[in-house]
Amino acid sequence: MSLAVEELLRGAVDVHAHSYPELSLSYDSRISNYDWAVMAKECGIRGYVLKSHVWPTVMQAYELSRLAQDVLVMGSVTLNYTVGGLSPTAVALAGELGGKVVFMPTWSSRNDIERSGVTLNRIRAFCPQVDDMVRRENGGVTVLDAAGRVKPEVSDIMDIAEHYGMAVSSGHLSPAETLKLAELAAVKGVRFTFSHPHIKSVAATVEQQVEAAATGAWIEHTFIACMPMHVRVDPRVIAKSIEAVGVDHAIMSSDAFGPWNPPEPELMRMYIATMLNIGFSADEVRKMVQVNPARYLGLATE
Ligand SMILES: [Zn+2]
Repeated sequence: MSLAVEELLRGAVDVHAHSYPELSLSYDSRISNYDWAVMAKECGIRGYVLKSHVWPTVMQAYELSRLAQDVLVMGSVTLNYTVGGLSPTAVALAGELGGKVVFMPTWSSRNDIERSGVTLNRIRAFCPQVDDMVRRENGGVTVLDAAGRVKPEVSDIMDIAEHYGMAVSSGHLSPAETLKLAELAAVKGVRFTFSHPHIKSVAATVEQQVEAAATGAWIEHTFIACMPMHVRVDPRVIAKSIEAVGVDHAIMSSDAFGPWNPPEPELMRMYIATMLNIGFSADEVRKMVQVNPARYLGLATE
């Protein structure tokens, strides 16, 4: 057991991890939510954001935080069709229930449907009604109008996020949409991440990541993107992006999901060990797993 890895895991904050159940009860879980919270506590993990592609996780997070005590389990809302898409009401009520992150649309975003559609296909298998929504939205949700301007409801969502101190993640929007949102977030004083730029449905260039970081956004790199049943991104590709953009703008998260991956604390442990092995210093990794995620979520930092 590497002491350096364990020390960096202690105090880590994971801004993006999927809870169970997710999508359908037919998707098994590697670990129950409660066992996960206990494991996180044993590892000294400071906290994590529960994400669901389907429903807000705010109530789950509230209960788990009470049960796990020393671990901060934080709730979120993802703006997919299930919550009405770009719904200021859903965001306000998630904020009122203690939510910490607003994820922009994932499987409901037009960009994701056009480029990947992986999660939509999974949902379609047991919920064919979802296609009515796709049709109604002309092929999926986009945050920009026909003239390329940010839609008014998205501006409202940013204001509500600012009011509740919630951070905003780009979800599965396109790099072009994300760059517009990063600018708006900077104007509104909202903390913002450009999420998993290397996954298939985003596929952002390093230049686009640099551009987003210039607005003050963080670039969030998920370790699940490197896993065998996902995009199999070489961690060195992530490392190269981080070197180009700067460690001060990088966040390492798990995006833990599915029984074919290790549980969230183990994914974070593997990620830390991998980045140390690639050549990042312990201080650099600490920034990316502890300091930057805490700042993004508005948590206290030393
Ligand atoms: Zn995710």
